[in-house]
Amino acid sequence: MLSNHDASAQNRLDMTNARNATSIDVLNVKQFIYNGHEEWQRKERLVEIMSKDPVFDKSKREWMTRTEKYSRGLRMVNRIHELGQILGWSKQDTTVATSLLDDPLPVSLHATAFEPVFLLQASQELLDKYAGLIATRGIFGCYLQTELGHGSNVAALETTATYIPETKEFDIHSPTLTSSKWWIGALGKTATHGVVQAKLLLPGGEDMGPHLFLVQLRSTETHKMLPGIIAGDIGPKSFNGFAATDNGFARFTHVRIPKEQMLSRFAQVTDDGKYVQPPHAKISYGGMLYIRSGMVTTAGWVTAKAAVISIRYATVRRQGTKGADELEKQIISYPSLHTRLLPILARAYVFISLGRALSQSFQTMAQRLSSGDASLLAELHATTSGLKVLCTTASVQDMENARRSMGGHGYSAFSGVGRFYADLIPSVTYEGENFVLDQQAVRAALKAFHGLFGAEGRSRPSSSTIAKLTPSSYYLRHLSSPTNEPPILKGSDSSWNNVENLILLLEWRAALLVHEIAQTAQDPDATIYQRVSKGTTEAFVGRRIGEMIGGLRTNSGLNANDVAVLSRLYLLYLQTTVESALADLLSFGLLRIENPPRVGASRDPTRGLRMAIAQNCLSLAPEAIGLTDALGFSDWELDSALGVYDGNVYQALWDKAQTEPLNDKEVPDAYGESIKPMLSRGRMMAERQSGPKL
Ligand SMILES: Cc1cc2nc3c(=O)[nH]c(=O)nc-3n(C[C@H](O)[C@H](O)[C@H](O)COP(=O)(O)OP(=O)(O)OC[C@H]3O[C@@H](n4cnc5c(N)ncnc54)[C@H](O)[C@@H]3O)c2cc1C
Repeated sequence: MLSNHDASAQNRLDMTNARNATSIDVLNVKQFIYNGHEEWQRKERLVEIMSKDPVFDKSKREWMTRTEKYSRGLRMVNRIHELGQILGWSKQDTTVATSLLDDPLPVSLHATAFEPVFLLQASQELLDKYAGLIATRGIFGCYLQTELGHGSNVAALETTATYIPETKEFDIHSPTLTSSKWWIGALGKTATHGVVQAKLLLPGGEDMGPHLFLVQLRSTETHKMLPGIIAGDIGPKSFNGFAATDNGFARFTHVRIPKEQMLSRFAQVTDDGKYVQPPHAKISYGGMLYIRSGMVTTAGWVTAKAAVISIRYATVRRQGTKGADELEKQIISYPSLHTRLLPILARAYVFISLGRALSQSFQTMAQRLSSGDASLLAELHATTSGLKVLCTTASVQDMENARRSMGGHGYSAFSGVGRFYADLIPSVTYEGENFVLDQQAVRAALKAFHGLFGAEGRSRPSSSTIAKLTPSSYYLRHLSSPTNEPPILKGSDSSWNNVENLILLLEWRAALLVHEIAQTAQDPDATIYQRVSKGTTEAFVGRRIGEMIGGLRTNSGLNANDVAVLSRLYLLYLQTTVESALADLLSFGLLRIENPPRVGASRDPTRGLRMAIAQNCLSLAPEAIGLTDALGFSDWELDSALGVYDGNVYQALWDKAQTEPLNDKEVPDAYGESIKPMLSRGRMMAERQSGPKL
């Protein structure tokens, strides 16, 4: 035991002890979470280079103005490309290096929105001309969809692209104030080009709805706006989030572009102005699905950072009751702390794996799409809609829970979690506002339901139709026969540790929710859309987790103990998901418990679940530091005084506070300007009232 005065040594000792207590093989789990030794090594190598380069220094950013943050952001990106050239980085190296920058930057819009949409939808001719330049950042792009007047309702966008057969050009025009493009990342000051969503008007005035067009915005020589276009930055954002990104506005006044600049891989306009239909109505959704699948991965990694910081802090922070060693307890030992933090860690692990699987599905779908095969589109659309909502909503909540778990210091900018929160919150709005996306998830679920049970929802499906159920609607099989029953749980806690039981409960709940909305579609209740979207997505995720646990056992390369620990972490995800679903499970009478608790002891039929969660958290608590270390973040990446690897949080917080510019002068300028006159006035007034002299 160390003296109470030597808090730094105690902090480090607590962290070392926690690290020693973990039973998992951290390096193995790390390689598992990074999808292999090579990817982990790549990241480690890049972090080593970047963390030592002054361009990527983070120590001053809390005090920068927006303009300084914007300039710093671009300086970093420029440096990445410069380093890439000097050190011969591969494309994947550059992608990973860019992903290590933890400020939302204008160039991420180039890589996540502009480039994939262009590559998926441009004609071969346009690809030949621009794909190389886009890949090397010879031009910078943005994606201009949202307008001042409309975002979610894409069909109502007002920007027009009128085809002029005489010159084989499109005339891009913003006819009203509300047609101004708004919110567009990288448009304000950075992008040279943009993919513009505009309604296509044929020579006869026929409105074909929104289509995509490549428009050059700025001169590639002077960076000045091209004639007919005005653009700028829309201003600061809530909580100072997205500060380094120039979300912008633009208006077009009859800007002419050659006909070839319509993104016409699928829908086309002939030279004489006839419209050629795309082979599939929703074929243009590809780019959007790419972005949404990436958002699941991003949500996972940001959640991971918040989990690492808050768990490390809770490991060294001591407060409250004294233990046998005469020291106050480590706050992680309080159940109210570890039952809050370990589920966040579980969600991080699950979302990272889900995101990876989703991105792989996207690649398969994109390959098929490039040859005109849209057969995988509907399924990926259904899963990405629901998962985007589920993961972004959960991550935003987790940021706040992690911050609160750290008490007052959690509110300091030096904790880092506030910054993640500020940058993450708009993710529930962009790429499909979550409440609007819920409706798409419901639409997909109802389509699957009616595909199985007919328009009236009462037909008996054939076994071949049931066999064709896709993963996103697999849960519907439970309704296929009236003799199917939800699981009967034993009264003991062990049934709540049974993965298959938990998955079946989530699937039954999803199936009954979809049945419910199908029956009551004409008269929906207040929250049915959100509950169906959440319920169906959680059933999908539940089944995937069952597969993940199976995969851990068969082909993860992990040892038996690591498999057991990770399985318990995934189980915790399922248990807490089922707990948050209890209102639905109880509403539908799905909790069928063989030996419910006896009156006198507990009358709560769900007590067993909550006891199982408590026990699982308790058993995972000693592994928490190992599991957070396995996420592989360096101190440079976390940039958090409370999440430092060695646990020396008070020293780190002290050192950070000394960098506050207000501390540069002992007497601030505000003293002469305001404090002194106020004090003098106060004293004069006190004297006048003949109070005692100070
Ligand atoms: C940080 C940030 C970056 C962005 N970057 C880009 C970009 O690069 N390019 C781009 O084009 N756009 C971008 N956007 C815009 C973003 O995509 C839109 O804000 C988003 O699609 C939501 O549209 P909206 O703002 O019009 O909200 P609205 O659609 O007006 O939504 C307002 C409210 O109405 C509800 N609502 C709307 N429609 C319905 C409905 N049919 N049924 C029920 N409720 C409904 C919503 O749930 C919401 O609560 C960005 C936005 C942000 C915040």
